[in-house]
Amino acid sequence: MGSTSDNEVKSENLRGGWGFSSLIETPNIPPILFDTGADGPTLLQNMEELGIDPKGIGTIVISHAHGDHTGGLRSILEVNKEAELYVPASLSGTIRGAKVTTVTEPIKISEEVFSTGELKGIEQSLAIKTDKGILVMAGCSHPGVREIIDAASKFGKVYGVIGGFHGFRDFNRLSGLSLIVPCHCTQYKSEILELFPQQCIRCGAGLGLEQ
Ligand SMILES: [Zn+2]
Ligand SMILES: [Zn+2]
Repeated sequence: MGSTSDNEVKSENLRGGWGFSSLIETPNIPPILFDTGADGPTLLQNMEELGIDPKGIGTIVISHAHGDHTGGLRSILEVNKEAELYVPASLSGTIRGAKVTTVTEPIKISEEVFSTGELKGIEQSLAIKTDKGILVMAGCSHPGVREIIDAASKFGKVYGVIGGFHGFRDFNRLSGLSLIVPCHCTQYKSEILELFPQQCIRCGAGLGLEQ
C-alpha cells in the first residue's frame, strides 16, 4: 500500500500539495487507487516517481466530491480508460468512465476491499481486510472518524485507520487501535501523534505500508 499524494512529502523527488491519494495493493488483483489528489500532473508525476504504472490500475475509488480528491481523475482516465470507478452518489452524473458504480450502501469492491457506503450523503471510506483485521482508509472523514470506524466494523475488527481525519478530536475512539496514520486535512495531527506515539506513523507522499 503506498500513499502517492499528500500535503506532506516523504521523499524529496515527490510533489506535495493539498490533496490525498493512495494506492492499495492486494494479492490477485490489479492495484486500487483511492482518490486522485488535487491535480493530474502531481498524481502522474508521483506515480512515475514511485514506479506505479497508471495503466496497471484496475479500480479507482473516489471518497468524496472535493477537488483535492477528484482533481487527478480526468488525467488518469485519459491514460487508463479501462479502470472501473466507484464513486459516491453525491458525485455521480459528473463522471464518465468505462464502468462506473455509484455507491450509497456498503459494497464489496474486491475480495479484500469493501466500501463503507456513502455516509451522511457525502463520503465513502474503505475497509481493507488484512491478516491483522480491518484497516480503514478515509479521504477527509467528513462524516466523522467514529462513524467511519463504526461502519467499517461491519466487515471485521478494526485495528488501524489511515487518511484525512479533518476536525476529528474525539481521541478516545482511537485508543485500542494498533495503527494510526493521520494524513492530509487532519487538524489535530500533532495532538494525535503525541497521544499515540507507538501507534502513529507520520503520513506523507510516498509513504509505503506493508500490512
Ligand atoms: Zn480533502
Ligand atoms: Zn473534503
